[in-house]
Order: sequence, then C-alpha cells, then structure tokens
Amino acid sequence: MSPDADQAVTDLFRVLMHPTRLAILDLLRDGEQCVCHMEAYLGKRQAYISQQLMLLREAGLVQDRRDGWNNYYRVVKPEIFTLIDNARSLAGYPNPAGNVRQPRTACPCPRCNPVLDVVELVIN
Ligand SMILES: [Zn+2]
Repeated sequence: MSPDADQAVTDLFRVLMHPTRLAILDLLRDGEQCVCHMEAYLGKRQAYISQQLMLLREAGLVQDRRDGWNNYYRVVKPEIFTLIDNARSLAGYPNPAGNVRQPRTACPCPRCNPVLDVVELVIN
C-alpha cells in the first residue's frame, strides 16, 4: 500500500468515525431521503444534520438534490454499507435488523406521507 492510499483510507475511516454519520448512512440504505426525514428519525436539529451531511458529501459518499422546499440526499457508493456491516459485526452487532430505527417525531417528508402526493396529483 502506498502512503497516499493509507492516508485516503484513514480519511474515509475518520468520516465514518461518528455515530450520527453512521446513523445518517443507515437511513439512506433504502434510497434517498429528505433532510427533514433525518431530523425526525434522529431527533437532531437540521443545522447539525446538515453539518454531518456536508462531511459525508466532501468524502464523496453522498450527493444532494433540491426539490422545492426539500433537500434530498442519497448514497453514491453503496459498497460503504458492506464496510459498515462488517465493522458492526466485528464490534459485536452482526444483526442489521437491530439497527432499524423509529422516528422520534412525526416525519413530514413526502415519502412518509404518500397521501400528500396523491392530493397533489389530484390538484394537478
Ligand atoms: Zn420521512
């Protein structure tokens, strides 16, 4: 391994070395999510979540997309989940089902409220 590669891997681990960033990536396993969805599920303020998302984006792990009022993020390197799952297993938590989260507050995002989409379709 070259020193450059060692540094790059160290930088990657440093980005993952944070419970909230791991939780954000977990929320993005099933596809893109609105920042408001992450707020509801993590019980953290938007500014704090945005700060963590910026670090994940700078590391090339996620990309964002704005749609109206909502800002969506998605994972662009899904192989990161293999790494996280292996690390969890090494740490003694091999069961991914144990990581399923429930929202702390009612989630206002369009994905959690498909009825709103239906209403929009009717109006349009
Ligand atoms: Zn939601």
